[in-house]
Amino acid sequence: MKRLTLWLAACAAICTPALAHEERAEAPAAAAAPATPARDKVKLIQAGWLLGVPGQQPQRERTIVVRNDRIERIDSGYTAPETIVDADVELIDLRDRFVLPGMMDMHVHLSSNSRGDAPFKIKYAADDLPGASVEERDDVTHLVDAIGNARKTLMAGFTTVRDLGSAGWNIVALRDAVAAGKLEGPRILTAVSIVRPGAGTGPGACSGVEGCRRVTRQQIDMGADLIKIYATCSGSLPCGLQYAPPVFLDDELKAIVETAHSRQLRVAAHAHGEEGIRAVLRAGVNSVEHGSYTPADSFETFKKNGAFLVPTMSVHANIEKDIKTATGPMRAVMQNFLDKHGPRMMAAWRAGVKIAAGTDAGVSVHGENARELEYYVREGMPAADAIKTATVNAASLIGREQDLGTIEKGKIADIIAVSADPLADITALQHVDFVMKDGRVFRDDQAAKRP
Ligand SMILES: [Zn+2]
Repeated sequence: MKRLTLWLAACAAICTPALAHEERAEAPAAAAAPATPARDKVKLIQAGWLLGVPGQQPQRERTIVVRNDRIERIDSGYTAPETIVDADVELIDLRDRFVLPGMMDMHVHLSSNSRGDAPFKIKYAADDLPGASVEERDDVTHLVDAIGNARKTLMAGFTTVRDLGSAGWNIVALRDAVAAGKLEGPRILTAVSIVRPGAGTGPGACSGVEGCRRVTRQQIDMGADLIKIYATCSGSLPCGLQYAPPVFLDDELKAIVETAHSRQLRVAAHAHGEEGIRAVLRAGVNSVEHGSYTPADSFETFKKNGAFLVPTMSVHANIEKDIKTATGPMRAVMQNFLDKHGPRMMAAWRAGVKIAAGTDAGVSVHGENARELEYYVREGMPAADAIKTATVNAASLIGREQDLGTIEKGKIADIIAVSADPLADITALQHVDFVMKDGRVFRDDQAAKRP
């Protein structure tokens, strides 16, 4: 009996449905088994155009068969619901839509609001109340903001994000609540607090090899999915200049990367200046974030290490505004940044460095994540490659290429749709009107119009 059950379980995974049925019919012992499995849910997505694998040609008139949370198969033409008899079937008519994989943003800060979007505050909270330390209160209010920002991100067609820095437990709670289906948002991978140099005890601050190992382990123990390092000053600070030095010492960088890698976590490094980028690549990080001044002599190390560049060009919108009122040396810093960032990213891309899309939403605007791809196209990247950065490449950066990044048999059903061809006009992705994540529909603007 036990062996038969095991065999049936294995068969469910590998046999054709017909064979599984036949074997069950001939096996009365199995038929007598007490548990009646819940009926599957199948969604048939009839797609007018399907860009199942970004980088390849889109296909006309396909049906994506989604069984529960996975893609069971892709049919040519439009499959009728009556042909599926072993499940509850729902038809989703996207025959006038362009369908593609859910997008992925590799650099967001869900608990930070972009400029002009004031952070949530608790009214009337006095400082001397129990449980009202600044850290505790921030953790709660950040969670409130993060819940709203996560929903905006998902509704914009981004089904997976990496959150690269948020002090406290809020982001861990949000990640787990979304995964449990209690809140609406993208699948979240979080770095928890950014590991940064500092002699103090603030979140993520570390000094020396032992100190940096300890703080890295602290993020892992809090539930980090990856580690984020602050390796140069911010681009908006004078110390974030093109030739500014890295802020960590080499042995500290190595200690952080080794500690993360020993626990099979990847490392993302914030780095703007040339020397900082060389330093983090020497230490073996998996992605360089921003990479504003990525030097040509680093391209080979990127490729040798399999490291990605995550450009976050969306922040240009802020700098383009700020430079209008900036004066003196800061104006020159901003102009140099605007002049160099795009061309250097494109030089890296042309040399074969892998690019994964990331926006820095939280600095840039949550829910406008798809603008990032417009920047790449404006710099000269073909739309097909820009879409790859937010799908195939992003899935590879997080090591989830077997599950995410394309619409193919066996993958998790993260699927979005737009009304126009994004290969012809990349801005079409800024108007997503259908969002499915894990086989569940979160947005379907056309649903009301269907018979
Ligand atoms: Zn950032």
